[in-house]
Amino acid sequence: MSKREFQTEVNQLLQLIVHSLYSHPEIFLRELVSNASDALDKLKYLTLTEDAYKSLVFEPRIDLELDEEKHTLTISDTGIGMNEEDLAANLGTIARSGTKNFLSHLSGDAKRDSNLIGQFGVGFYSAFMVADRVEVVSRKAAEEAAWRWVSDGKNGFEIEPAERATAGTTVTLFFNEDGKEYANSWKLREIIKKYSNHIAFPIFLTYDKSEWDETEKKSNKKRVTEQINSASAMWKRSKSELKDEDYKELYKTISGNWEDPMFWFHTKAEGTMEYTTLFFVPSKAPMDLYQADYKPGVKLYVRRVFITDDQKELMPGYLRFLRGIVDSEDLPLNVSREILQQNKVLLSIKNASVKKVLSELQTVASNNPEQYTKFIEEYNRPVKEGLYSDWANRETLLELIRVKSTKAEGWTSLADVKQRMKEGQKGIYYITGGRSAQLSTSPLLEIYKRRDIEVLILDDEIDEIVFAGIDKYKDVELKAVNKSSAGEDLKDEADKDKGDELKPLLEKLKKALGDSVKDVKASTRLADSPSCVVSGEEEPSMKMQQMLRAMGQKGLPDMKPVLEINPDHEIVKKLLGAGDDALVDDSAWLLLEQALLIEGVPLENPGTFVQRLNRVLSRAV
Ligand code: ADP
Repeated sequence: MSKREFQTEVNQLLQLIVHSLYSHPEIFLRELVSNASDALDKLKYLTLTEDAYKSLVFEPRIDLELDEEKHTLTISDTGIGMNEEDLAANLGTIARSGTKNFLSHLSGDAKRDSNLIGQFGVGFYSAFMVADRVEVVSRKAAEEAAWRWVSDGKNGFEIEPAERATAGTTVTLFFNEDGKEYANSWKLREIIKKYSNHIAFPIFLTYDKSEWDETEKKSNKKRVTEQINSASAMWKRSKSELKDEDYKELYKTISGNWEDPMFWFHTKAEGTMEYTTLFFVPSKAPMDLYQADYKPGVKLYVRRVFITDDQKELMPGYLRFLRGIVDSEDLPLNVSREILQQNKVLLSIKNASVKKVLSELQTVASNNPEQYTKFIEEYNRPVKEGLYSDWANRETLLELIRVKSTKAEGWTSLADVKQRMKEGQKGIYYITGGRSAQLSTSPLLEIYKRRDIEVLILDDEIDEIVFAGIDKYKDVELKAVNKSSAGEDLKDEADKDKGDELKPLLEKLKKALGDSVKDVKASTRLADSPSCVVSGEEEPSMKMQQMLRAMGQKGLPDMKPVLEINPDHEIVKKLLGAGDDALVDDSAWLLLEQALLIEGVPLENPGTFVQRLNRVLSRAV
């Protein structure tokens, strides 16, 4: 028997699990049982689809055997099993990048962190929370040899040949001091009921039962085996039979979360296509929501047989926060995972499910606004992602998103914004490119405030990209206030004359600024500030350009801003009459640079800015 080392990350993980995640040690059982259930799913799938496995006798079950005296528990399954390589690879290394992700997410807060265990599925090692020795005896289906894997969770592991009559895996835990409380049949029953009641296979518990003997007048111990879960695919039952508790319990089993879900949608479709879907919205957005390698949370079943849970195509990306189940009556069982993506039945289920989820969300929004606000706090962003990825449902998505605005406390809907439009208002205006505090004080908003026109404050990073692609809400145009066309909307007769008056000054400023601006214009949108920068109709804002560069975007054309000058501002009026070219020169730059600063764009050369500022100041004092 040779000693092998754990991969470094396993050691790190074991340390963390054993030393900091003590708040819910009972989850070890949920994790081991769900591994057993996964192993059964995998073998069931093979026996139904692969000829080589069809002749196997498959009796799916999970057995817990308790020895209260020796403080040991075995968890056995009749599933797919593991051979020598599998044991070394699966139980000695961390194969999934998700687990590395998990390690980087740990906060040190035990409650939060133990929640993460489930989300990232680092399950098996949780056994070392309660055991100081773990033995795994396994035999892979369709193979003869069996192997024993042994570890104390500290000094690596050993693998040696072993005996096992049939395929499957037996995990034996030798409980440590903390684990002893689980060497108790009541306790085990309770934990299984809590987390694993809906596991689709029967779970049996074998233990010494105390029974009262009337004739002998004393209680005797008797070894018994009892089924301790209900093993039903509860999503197949009708809604009226199910209680909230049933849903919450299933959610916890399939998502590995502690908290109750925010809400759920259970649908049974009958007719040309038959399928059941049950979708849960987690109360908190999953930790890996914004990572490219997020773990999808919807499991695909075909006639109650588990097929896959890593199919990213099952739901569109923007709904990746959903957890749940799709169970189809029409798909063939041996549908290959690659073909799934192009499968017509699945595609129709997906399209119908998306529509259903979106309409259910609309119902929540109108019937329970408070709950919907909670949803928005967690999921506004993914829903907005849908606006540029799901054209077919764009209209519904526009109803579902919420925005901040100059006229609403908290979140508001586009429908409400439209309702509040003033007579003659030519569009719905919005500002992007910064945090809401900064956006609210932008000079670009001055004229809207003065004319009492509402402006949406879009302060999410993705807003500029999302809204640039949306021309209209219903029949109303959506316009960014920093785009030149929004300025046109605000023009009135008086503005035209002012433009003419300003011409000589504009020429001078343009000359002074040279290539740094695209143009210098008289502004129609400023009230209190002397200047602002705006971008061309099809160009990203200055702030966005800067962010794209910071993110390493290459080959971005060098887009220059248009500088707009407020004809009514005192500084501008004075400059109009100024004969001093050096002063006009300095002022030109100061007008541009202050406008950039307010937009949140850092200056290329703060040194020259300060020199200019000081020159002008020293003249003034
Ligand atoms: P996860 O289940 O999230 O992949 P685990 O650490 O719990 O992570 O398990 C690692 C791997 O070990 C599993 O992916 C599976 O391949 C294998 N494994 C664990 N338990 C069993 C079992 N009872 N039968 C077969 N394979 C198992």
